[in-house]
Amino acid sequence: MPKSETINQGRIIAFLQNAALSFLRQFVDFIYPPYCILCESYLKPHENIVCQKCWSQQQELEIPFLTCDQLKRKPGEKWWFDGSLALFKYSSATQQLVHYLKYRRFSKLAKPFGRDMTKVLAGEPWLESIDAMIPVPLHPKRLRERGFNQSYLLAKAAVDQLEIKVWNDALIRTRYTQPQAKMQREERLRNVTGAFRLNPAANIENKNIVLVDDVFTTGSTMNECARILRMAGAKKVISLTVVRI
Ligand SMILES: [Zn+2]
Repeated sequence: MPKSETINQGRIIAFLQNAALSFLRQFVDFIYPPYCILCESYLKPHENIVCQKCWSQQQELEIPFLTCDQLKRKPGEKWWFDGSLALFKYSSATQQLVHYLKYRRFSKLAKPFGRDMTKVLAGEPWLESIDAMIPVPLHPKRLRERGFNQSYLLAKAAVDQLEIKVWNDALIRTRYTQPQAKMQREERLRNVTGAFRLNPAANIENKNIVLVDDVFTTGSTMNECARILRMAGAKKVISLTVVRI
């Protein structure tokens, strides 16, 4: 083959490779747009899903850990957990991010939330006594619909730098409950009472547990999960969430 023909073929191959790469990049950009989901500005290479500016606009809680005595509750209401640790106050930015966390294409948001959870956990004197993290489970039907449990992703991301196990199947959701976002306190309580049970294979006796969920509103879901764990002999149960309202 003459030398000039080989060079031309090389150029054609390089051109096709570049065209294929460019097409692939545009396709990926279409599926996973490199724009911040909140402000729609173009993301920098180290940013993912949300830009640094929007992320930093979330409002950290001044006191991340509150004991149950410091939490609001109705007279006579019994808290089964020992305290609530959370990252952010309720704000529009955090609310939107937690909402996006429930979509598979944005589920990577669990990573930065988990990273911040690790930071707040590191400041707690009880951290060393923790035996495991247990995510608040989804009902199997909702798990099939969503494809993943965002609380499990948060727990996994939170323990990434810690030597703590995640017991994903220790609690089982036995009732398909309605979303609670617009419910009042009493409705939430009715909605979750009896909605969980313990996996018979889980040994909770004398264990110190961190229960993980995305949002702490009235605490009714956490409280019901904590009740199951305490009835099974758990020593300490602490709630860990992204938001505490
Ligand atoms: Zn942004």
